[in-house]
Amino acid sequence: MDKQEIIKALSAEDFSPYYEEADRLCRLHKGNIIDMRAIIEFSNVCARGCTYCGLNVNCNVERYQMSEEEIKETALKAIAAGYKTIVLQSGEVPNTNVLTLGRVSALIKAKGAAITISCGELSREELVYLKEQGADRYLLKHETADEELYRRLHPDGTLTNRLNTLRDIKALGYETGSGFMVGLPGQTVETLAEDLLLLKEIGCDMAGIGPFIASPNTPLAGEKNGDPEMTKRAVAIARILLPKANLPVTTSLGVLSDAERRKAFSCGANVIMKKVTPDEYKDKYKIYPADIPPINIEKDRADIIKMLAEIGKKGV
Ligand code: SAH
Repeated sequence: MDKQEIIKALSAEDFSPYYEEADRLCRLHKGNIIDMRAIIEFSNVCARGCTYCGLNVNCNVERYQMSEEEIKETALKAIAAGYKTIVLQSGEVPNTNVLTLGRVSALIKAKGAAITISCGELSREELVYLKEQGADRYLLKHETADEELYRRLHPDGTLTNRLNTLRDIKALGYETGSGFMVGLPGQTVETLAEDLLLLKEIGCDMAGIGPFIASPNTPLAGEKNGDPEMTKRAVAIARILLPKANLPVTTSLGVLSDAERRKAFSCGANVIMKKVTPDEYKDKYKIYPADIPPINIEKDRADIIKMLAEIGKKGV
């Protein structure tokens, strides 16, 4: 699909032919399997001022940083519960403690699980080091392909830098994840088409596409939330453009609507991420407002498997 075709599809009154094609491609390449990933949000310390994010440097939130032991313990619990991928996510700080991340990655690797890192724009040297320690995947969403909008939302960064880091990630042999938000203030359907084509240009192995949720205490508080229907449409087109990619149903879609989250698994999505961050920290990692029930790694995993079974999918 080219840009005009994508714009036409996203705006179509009847999108069902695209949903059907996305579901067909997903079944063809992924069967009825949904990959379940455990995400540990190990620190909310952040030096950047991304205007949509509830953890940005100007937000008055209590900051935390899990110790290396705590991160390892949480990862081991998630692996023991059956998770095969551990996602390590945090805010972005200059001079990230990559030694800790490296040791955690080596441990996870030794236990036979895969590691995804999502800690913002690391340097090439840091990326090389983490790859050597066993990190398999890196998730760095481009957030928006519109350069002007990117500049407005990110006082501390440029789209060029973000894309250069993504190119490093790809060149170093990581499974590369990008993605974007749907419904950012100022975004148009043309932007969304560019976002989708950029995923293809980067050569993404995975892409997280989720609705924007207005976060209090940020410059975008009070803005309209992204539209779940448009989010599902974007996921479906991503599946058509990148038939073999891993496409998660984002947590933000689930926050807006549990029903829509379920439906997304029939629109091309094949991955779900579940928070396993310890209870004492979980409420402090609030990128956007969300009610997070107490975390019970084993039970939560069993509940997801049950939910997936109800819609004919097998969570692994
Ligand atoms: N610091 C890391 C991790 C960011 S948090 C990095 O910069 O990559 C993970 C993702 O949450 C972001 O990439 C963004 O797409 C999403 N996000 C942040 N604020 C959001 C909001 N208000 N609504 C919806 N998604 C948001």
